[in-house]
Amino acid sequence: MLNREQLWPSLAQQEWDIVVVGGGITGAGVAREAARTGLKVLLIDQKDYAFGTSSRSSKMVHGGLRYIAMGDIKLTKHSLVERERLLQEAPGLVDRMSYFFAHYQGGGIKTNRWAFAILLMAYDFLAGIKDRSYFNAKKFLARVPNYRSQKLLGASRYTDAVTDDTRLVLRVLDEAVKDGGVCLNYVKAEKSIMQEGKIVGLHVVDEVTGQRVSLKTKTVVNATGAWVNRLRQQIAPETVSVRPQRGSHLVVSAERLPLQDALILFHPDDQRAMFIYAWEGRTVIGTTDLDHKTDLDDEAVITAEEVNYLLRAANHEFPTAKLTTADVIATFSGVRPIVSSGKGLDPSKERRDHAVWADNGLISVSGGKLTTFRQIAQDVLTAAEPWLPSIKQREQKAAIFSQAANLKTPFDAAQERRFIGKYGYLAGQFLQEMPADELVFIPETYTLWAELRWALRYEQVVHLDDLLLRRSRLGLLLVDGGLHHIERIKAIALAEGWTESYWQSELARYQSIWQRYYSLPQGLK
Ligand SMILES: Cc1cc2nc3c(=O)[nH]c(=O)nc-3n(C[C@H](O)[C@H](O)[C@H](O)COP(=O)(O)OP(=O)(O)OC[C@H]3O[C@@H](n4cnc5c(N)ncnc54)[C@H](O)[C@@H]3O)c2cc1C
Repeated sequence: MLNREQLWPSLAQQEWDIVVVGGGITGAGVAREAARTGLKVLLIDQKDYAFGTSSRSSKMVHGGLRYIAMGDIKLTKHSLVERERLLQEAPGLVDRMSYFFAHYQGGGIKTNRWAFAILLMAYDFLAGIKDRSYFNAKKFLARVPNYRSQKLLGASRYTDAVTDDTRLVLRVLDEAVKDGGVCLNYVKAEKSIMQEGKIVGLHVVDEVTGQRVSLKTKTVVNATGAWVNRLRQQIAPETVSVRPQRGSHLVVSAERLPLQDALILFHPDDQRAMFIYAWEGRTVIGTTDLDHKTDLDDEAVITAEEVNYLLRAANHEFPTAKLTTADVIATFSGVRPIVSSGKGLDPSKERRDHAVWADNGLISVSGGKLTTFRQIAQDVLTAAEPWLPSIKQREQKAAIFSQAANLKTPFDAAQERRFIGKYGYLAGQFLQEMPADELVFIPETYTLWAELRWALRYEQVVHLDDLLLRRSRLGLLLVDGGLHHIERIKAIALAEGWTESYWQSELARYQSIWQRYYSLPQGLK
């Protein structure tokens, strides 16, 4: 990506076909699909790329077994088709993972082995694969040691996929840029400009410098997730209700809770479905599902009740683990913009599908899933056709990702797969430019030191939290947010142009953000 300072002056000097507001997975997908049609596309985010829900999801690329159980066949089918496509196109970034569901004597119909087998058969059928099996208790306990074994009959295995959500967003953005799209973070859309009842522009502000400009554009795509009504209500006669729901996760060390798969379980208190799963060499416990009543402009944060609720579930499934708050490395919470049924349903029962609204050239989109971003992007572009007739004939099924040319890397096969999955067509340039002594992994992680340098140079890192929470995930994976590596991180940042005083203020900012939003709540520390 070009750097922000280079891009900003040119924004107001041209007419855009589409300005995409929101740099989460939805906006990234729209920018990617629009850029390939040859349109002039600009994407902006008021904060960092993936700052919203797209860095705080459960990171599953999945059909969602619970959606099929709820009878939502359409959403499940769409998601499964997209899952299979992403597995094909982005190995190393989106990878298949085994999911287990344990069966117990006297568990009732909800946990009945045969009922579950029928569900899995339908799930695999919709995906067009056959990848499921049954593990007896002994075999299952060998795979998942210390799992609750009393009255255990065995476990059903099926597969879904897992990703790094922020790297998925960045790789999609890289593809948009490759096709001529322009992306800029820390630029906020303030107000639409209307002429003769149609959108013709957008007032935006650079949140770093405070400068304001007016952009000219034929359409605006409002992909602002939970914030969707803010832009839309400026011009739409009425807006539908978007119900923000918070989901929180705990990250614990794999030594304390060793796992190579994902487990699906029902919480002992309320029988809600939850997951415990392996991610980036750690174990994640999630998620809660609660109406989110705090200000959307404040980052979502886990409460003490949620921490205890999640720990209770983990300790119920792994009775000998005896996890406590001392085992929590980090926490993260995201807000799901559920397009509300208005029926006052239990949060877990609201549908997860997306909705698109077209209002005089402002196309708004909200809801949906990480998994279905390509399909959502196509629906958005279809809604934009009246203002952009040239896209009617577009290719709708083309590959999202271009592939890396044949590369010689210094990594073993698994590491190479991950590396190419993350950087795609840029992997070759990465290897050419990055110092050889940084092509080694940061202790206890699968992240290269060179990834930090690359991000600082090419991925519009403005703040240290961009680098440690979204370009890399060190802040979620390392104790104290990675502070024990801070001297080496500082050396890289200074070599890439940061000044000592900027570093000091960024370090203070990062520590405060990490303490407040990514560690345990006050009272549990
Ligand atoms: C707890 C949880 C777990 C989930 N797990 C999964 C999962 O495992 N798999 C899955 O497929 N889906 C999952 N989802 C759903 C998925 O994460 C979301 O559907 C998806 O991330 C939404 O992306 P988005 O781009 O629409 O919104 P966001 O990622 O929130 O992006 C919106 C962006 O708009 C920006 N913005 C807002 N206002 C403005 C403005 N005025 N100007 C400029 N920018 C603005 C924000 O800064 C933000 O970056 C989960 C959701 C939650 C909450």
